[in-house]
Amino acid sequence: MLKVQFMFYATDMKSLNMVAQLKHPVFHLLQETAQELGIPTYVVGGFVRDRLMQRPFKGDIDIVCLGSGIALAKALKKKHPKAGPISIFKTYGTAKLPIEDIELEFVGARKESYHPDSRNPEVATGSLEDDQNRRDFTVNAMAISLNKDDYGALIDPFNGQQDLKKQLIRTPNNPDTTFADDPLRMLRAIRFATQLEFNIVPEALASITANADRMTIVSRERCTEELHKILACPKPSTGFLLLEKTGILQHLLPELTALKGIEEIEGHKHKDNFYHTLEVVDNICPHTNNVWLRWAALLHDIGKAPTKKFIPPTGWTFHGHEFVGAKMVYRLFKRLRMPLNEKMKYVQKLVLLSSRPIALVDVQVTDAAVRRLIFDAGPVLDDLFTLCQADITTKNPKRFTRYHDNFKRVRDKIEVVEERDRIRNFQPPITGEMIMEYFNIPPSKAIGTIKEAIKEAILEGEIPNALEAAKAKMIAEGKKLGLKAQTPNDA
Ligand code: ATP
Ligand code: MG
Repeated sequence: MLKVQFMFYATDMKSLNMVAQLKHPVFHLLQETAQELGIPTYVVGGFVRDRLMQRPFKGDIDIVCLGSGIALAKALKKKHPKAGPISIFKTYGTAKLPIEDIELEFVGARKESYHPDSRNPEVATGSLEDDQNRRDFTVNAMAISLNKDDYGALIDPFNGQQDLKKQLIRTPNNPDTTFADDPLRMLRAIRFATQLEFNIVPEALASITANADRMTIVSRERCTEELHKILACPKPSTGFLLLEKTGILQHLLPELTALKGIEEIEGHKHKDNFYHTLEVVDNICPHTNNVWLRWAALLHDIGKAPTKKFIPPTGWTFHGHEFVGAKMVYRLFKRLRMPLNEKMKYVQKLVLLSSRPIALVDVQVTDAAVRRLIFDAGPVLDDLFTLCQADITTKNPKRFTRYHDNFKRVRDKIEVVEERDRIRNFQPPITGEMIMEYFNIPPSKAIGTIKEAIKEAILEGEIPNALEAAKAKMIAEGKKLGLKAQTPNDA
């Protein structure tokens, strides 16, 4: 039976031999192991696609076999001295095996059938063809034989090679079935289109649009994983535009779709903040691979939808949008099951401060204002400027240069103030303990009041950022509060 299967492919395939792509020594060992167990074995999915596209090897290799994937993984582990601990997922019949810097994932070939309310299928043992058939896209459904008789042969029943050449994302089956069965595939289609710079074929795109509401059965974590991957691409706007066009974005990030559109009242128009945002995200990509900075770019204007107001005769205002936006970041992160830790705080901080550098462009700006920004931004200061520079999306070349020059001026000012006052990693020269000791008082509100007064005096430039001056300020503030020094020398 298995042999017949193989013969079918051997005669049917466009006999491309990929043996040169199986350079990694693990493939020969796999071939030996599979042969000893009598289990026909194939490499499948992303590895095959990426070899044909000459993309860099990421380290994960998917293996499908006509038999037990778990048994094959266990046998390979025994043979390889450097194999790491095996992870077995009995319910799915899969196993993961790390070997040095690669990770192999094994699965027995299977058929799947789906229920409308779940993206977890019922699975039954199947042929290689069944297994290729259940895969998401033609370019992800190609396999390479690791069997002795046709080692290296490419098995490509859906002509994935042609779709690779034409740069198309197409489902092996009817797209309506594919996407309704597992709606995560809709997000994967958009993610691959963005990552590989492919087009989604029109019938698949129409089907994604028709099935967009099915996204509700996909877990938030899986959606977020795909959003991260889209944001990690060199041009994320491709993905977000597709998400918007198909109606998926509305389910995942309604805060962004709310930014769409231009309103006009009494001849005053505001810009379309959705498209502007996508430009900002694309702009920032060449300057950072930090996905959280890219998230900040994506979310920096979300407060504009709820704060938008038309105030005659001035026009449109988005007063306080940074503050509102920063608050929305928390809710959005929570909903998308993203970490609510320092990553979220980092994004919040950037959103909150996103308009501050522009306010310092004025030539008259005081040192105090500069110090305040340095203090408030602290370690995110450089990233804040990267964001602000990406935020310049004007198509007018003169203005573009002028805005960049403005930021350069602000940076220069910051450098001068920073060198003199060392505010960025501001540690108050006087600690709470010092105040308690000096006045011999227990922890109390007075300590916070004095510390705040010292910080303010330094930021305002009343006193330098130095111990002696801060101490004098502490004494003066203590007096105002009716406190007396306890150390006779200091009194
Ligand atoms: P990459 O790892 O670069 O994101 P990949 O193609 O290897 O791309 P994986 O998520 O690692 O993607 O999945 C491996 C293979 O499993 C895919 O190539 C595809 O054949 C199949 N696959 C993964 N997820 C699905 C899914 N939801 N529906 C159908 N097939 C899938
Ligand atoms: Mg993979």
